[in-house]
Amino acid sequence: MLKGIAVSEGMACGTAVVIKSESGGREKTYRQAESSEKERSRFREAYDRFIKDAEKAAEGLKSKGLKQEAGILLSHVEMVKDPSVASGIEENISNGCCAEEAVDKTLGFFADMFEATGDELTMQRASDVRDINNELIKKLTGNEGPDISSLPEGSVLVTDELTPSMTVDMKTGSVVGIVAETGGYTSHSAILARALGVPAVLSVAGATKLIAEGQDVAVDGISGDVIVSPDNDEKKCCEEKAEAFRRQKALTEEFRGKMTVTASGEKKEVVANIGNAGDVSAAKDGDAEGIGLFRTEFLYMDRDSAPDEEEQLASYRKVAEAFAPAPVIIRTLDVGGDKDVQYLDMGKEDNPFMGFRAIRYCLENQQLFRTQLRALLRANTAGNIRIMLPMVTELQEIRDVRKLIDESVEELKAEGKEFGQNISLGIMVETPAAAATADILAEEADFFSIGTNDLTGYMMSADRGNGKVAYLYSVYQPAVLRMIRNVCEAAHKAGIPVGMCGEAAADPALIPCLLGFGLDEFSVGSRQVLATRRTISLWSRQEAEDTVRKVMTLHTVEETEAYLNSIKK
Ligand code: PEP
Ligand code: MG
Repeated sequence: MLKGIAVSEGMACGTAVVIKSESGGREKTYRQAESSEKERSRFREAYDRFIKDAEKAAEGLKSKGLKQEAGILLSHVEMVKDPSVASGIEENISNGCCAEEAVDKTLGFFADMFEATGDELTMQRASDVRDINNELIKKLTGNEGPDISSLPEGSVLVTDELTPSMTVDMKTGSVVGIVAETGGYTSHSAILARALGVPAVLSVAGATKLIAEGQDVAVDGISGDVIVSPDNDEKKCCEEKAEAFRRQKALTEEFRGKMTVTASGEKKEVVANIGNAGDVSAAKDGDAEGIGLFRTEFLYMDRDSAPDEEEQLASYRKVAEAFAPAPVIIRTLDVGGDKDVQYLDMGKEDNPFMGFRAIRYCLENQQLFRTQLRALLRANTAGNIRIMLPMVTELQEIRDVRKLIDESVEELKAEGKEFGQNISLGIMVETPAAAATADILAEEADFFSIGTNDLTGYMMSADRGNGKVAYLYSVYQPAVLRMIRNVCEAAHKAGIPVGMCGEAAADPALIPCLLGFGLDEFSVGSRQVLATRRTISLWSRQEAEDTVRKVMTLHTVEETEAYLNSIKK
């Protein structure tokens, strides 16, 4: 099985058609240039045709109601019309290049420049530039490449680089799935694949070598799995999943753009969990009402040193602005346990899950922590950022952080830097200590978010990675549910909102119980937003409270799970 980034949901099984994009497969050998005038006029002719064809394809998309997607092709036209593009190409022609070489040199330069920025969105634009480059070369050479519009029905397109023009050329119905070696969720080709509803998995290393023309391929655009030559059972499983996905999608799409309300009219919030600023588009596409958990540790991982204040500022601001005025809850650095960051030198511990991690580490490493707090304050100019502390176990931790925030505010004032006043400070409730003393913590925290992933493990003293104790690790355990109830009650008594950002928030069987506890906010994966909103809409307050009453009489995890599944809507 191969693995990549799932960028367009759905399941498909079909026959591989392997196509190398021009940039990956083309030999870059050039013929002797004819006169500059001749090369210039060849280029101009290809250039005009490119613009005309792209505008026509954009019109085609618009007529299918894909206005935003048409905008992607029009943005290619805009890029090409930028005077520096044509003048760069013509200058290279004047220096003796043939038109093809001049196009490759000029656009190659722009693509490399975008790629070198390190900024995810700008880097994705490099792929657009290469797409334009390929299209211009095709027009110059008359070698238009494989005709994607005439692939046989049931094809799975396997390519090194999926370009927007390839995606636009695909006829709906003929290409049932896409596998590509490069690309990410926000690449333009991914946006188009989503708009066309074709399941796609990108960044599958070596796909064009590992998958042969004509082989059967199953593409899972939800998990990112690609199965080459699936056996009969795997094919059957793929078809069943595809059918379940279609049914679920039809049910949940009705809730897009709607408010989240229970069947008896109480307003709730469904927000998204994200790991970096690039996930904003997925959260928006998922129809999240805000961000309930931004796991900032990913900013610190896979690098040699911590991100500085400016880098963090840019990242937090991007997310905050994308959702303003809706709330964006950003969790401060949660390292340690299973999240190791080499350069932070956290030392080896016998029991890292119980050790020097998360807020404990940050309070001891104030330089590092202050940088993050300052970036968060500065990013909060729209006033919608909320700071959330991980692994809180006692009141003093909240007090210490408040003090650091106050000091950072004074520093920023003295430096004349712009920042948002009165930032809200909440905590993850994910340790038994925090859950048991929720009444005390609620006096000083502005909000709670229950982290059931850790809370379940700590409550049950069962590591979720340990198969031998997996039977204990369940949110349906009476001990865990009693703790969640306690946290919700304490929050409401103190008049602060309470959410949940652990995986349990999206569990359709548990949702009536969570509603009965009075949970205000459900923070879930971007793809689970609509389904969660739908489940919430199916339960009235009375039914949810009845569910809690019944659940609290059950004594075992098995009884509880069986009961909640039996009433699941
Ligand atoms: C949790 O513990 O429930 C949680 C959301 O945090 P993480 O999964 O990042 O530990
Ligand atoms: Mg946690």
